[in-house]
Amino acid sequence: MALFATDDVSKNDPDEIGRILIVESSPLYTSLTKSAVKKVFSGPVDTASNFDDVKRFIAENRHDYFLALLNLSLPGAAFGEAVAYIRSLDIPAVVFTSSIEKDIVDRICSYGVIDYIIKENVANLELISRTVRRLDRNRRTNVLVVDDSATGRMQMRILLEKRLFNVSEAKNGTEALEIISQTDEFQLLITDYEMPLMNGFDLTKELRSEKNSRELAIVGMSASNDIRLAANFIRYGADDFVTKPINTEEFATRISMCMDKKDLLNELMFRATTDYLTKLWNRGYFMGTAKTLYSSAYRNQIEITIAMIDLDFFKNINDTYGHEAGDEVLRDVAAALKNRVRQSDVLARIGGEEFCLLAVNVDPRYRDAFFSDILETISSIKFNFAGEDISVSASMGVTNELGVSLDDMLKRADGALYEAKKRGRHQFIYAE
Ligand code: GH3
Ligand code: MG
Ligand code: MG
Ligand code: MG
Repeated sequence: MALFATDDVSKNDPDEIGRILIVESSPLYTSLTKSAVKKVFSGPVDTASNFDDVKRFIAENRHDYFLALLNLSLPGAAFGEAVAYIRSLDIPAVVFTSSIEKDIVDRICSYGVIDYIIKENVANLELISRTVRRLDRNRRTNVLVVDDSATGRMQMRILLEKRLFNVSEAKNGTEALEIISQTDEFQLLITDYEMPLMNGFDLTKELRSEKNSRELAIVGMSASNDIRLAANFIRYGADDFVTKPINTEEFATRISMCMDKKDLLNELMFRATTDYLTKLWNRGYFMGTAKTLYSSAYRNQIEITIAMIDLDFFKNINDTYGHEAGDEVLRDVAAALKNRVRQSDVLARIGGEEFCLLAVNVDPRYRDAFFSDILETISSIKFNFAGEDISVSASMGVTNELGVSLDDMLKRADGALYEAKKRGRHQFIYAE
């Protein structure tokens, strides 16, 4: 049920995190930049204020840097020497400049930097954060470039790899489908239109029957002068479309927007369906999914089980050890429950200290064992608050009867839960 890409993979993988080097002589701008970077990047951030510092940091950590953010001119290195040095070591770089005069920008670009950021006001800090977050995520983003022209694929590869994407290639739609069907690892597909065997438009239509924009972003491109092509691509599911020959800077910006939009959609979806405290499904998601599952179970007369689980005397924990302690209990109980149930079960926090489990095809022979084991799982968690060892118990009401409606099932599970509380708690009761 883990459908959503959570925020930050790098947080879980310290080996892959890398470092960022900021090169800037103004202390104020250095500290502002560093905090903008820290907002989106959890790895080490080094700051160098002159060319000697740069060389020292590079000597220490050269292979750890996945990105350098540099001012074009430093005292004693006024003509981009530091940028040239960093680029000669093939470290990806973004350059700050206070001038957008054409020959300055051209000079910056001649070093093969990823991008430049105009250093004019504090609003640009937001742009720094966005740029760093994007590049950090690009490192973990796999792109499939689909084009029958080897030159076209090569140009696209260079453009994307410069922005840290991992690039794979396919020669036509058929090959692309084959590659995509074997793995979930691609988050972006860039496709040409005219190709032998299967064109980019048919590829887009085919892919969209399986994967939505949250799973795979698709960008179409073509040199064709068919004036309806762009509209059709987008209508059938492409996230964007560009006309060839492409303008590199525009194309890169469009790709960033596309990926930002995809991340944002995933984040919105995550927040809309997940309980912020326990990361279980929330009540809204539970009700929606339960309705769908119930209807299908009802049509096919398949057994489903609903279990309402409510912690016993939970208020005492809040009252005795504080709300923070209560939250910790809820998080740990949720994690333990999640571990205990199957991937296909729907487990949600539907109220303050109330959880609901919807399971399909629980074997009647193992039912009793399953439910007592769930209660056991909860009560065996040990907490230590204010120097005291404590544990919590839970009561549960269960219904296995399909009944006349989902509402009816929920009501009966609730009734059984009430009965379990009445009979002394720390037990489960089947609804009559
Ligand atoms: P019973 O055994 O009858 O269920 O008793 P109880 O104390 O568990 O039940 P009651 O419904 O009286 O109290 C539930 C408490 O859960 C009240 C509320 O303050 C607390 N609560 C609800 N949501 C949260 C939350 O997100 N965090 C914390 N820490 N407490 C919460
Ligand atoms: Mg072609
Ligand atoms: Mg309770
Ligand atoms: Mg309750």
